[in-house]
Amino acid sequence: MISKIQAVAASKCPKCRTGKMFTGPVYGFRRQKMHEYCPHCGFKFEIEPGYFYAAMYVSYAFSVAQVLTLALVTALITKSESPWLYIGVLFAAIVIFAPFNLRYSRLVLLHFLSPKVTFDPRLYGEREEEAKVKG
Ligand SMILES: [Zn+2]
Repeated sequence: MISKIQAVAASKCPKCRTGKMFTGPVYGFRRQKMHEYCPHCGFKFEIEPGYFYAAMYVSYAFSVAQVLTLALVTALITKSESPWLYIGVLFAAIVIFAPFNLRYSRLVLLHFLSPKVTFDPRLYGEREEEAKVKG
């Protein structure tokens, strides 16, 4: 059985830790889409209307941490005082991290900040496709 951290890293459903929450990879040519219901246990990810607005706060915290870290690293490496360097680096960072933040803010919200959503070990199991392959 996988831990909560592993489930978040692999973007699995918080209820069964088996079904995938998103359809594609974090970075790809197609826009990432989230399943409405868990493909394994049927859990509805948006537990109430507008639930993922709360993920914006998590995403904001992620962005602040990333931008502060990168600003510090940029200052340490380049020792530059040009504001344009920082604007360029931080703007690029915000764009590059956006898909990551979208996905992991929702995962952190459901796995760690939603007391009503708990892991049910009885629902944990291998994916249907994998079970079929094994016969
Ligand atoms: Zn599930």
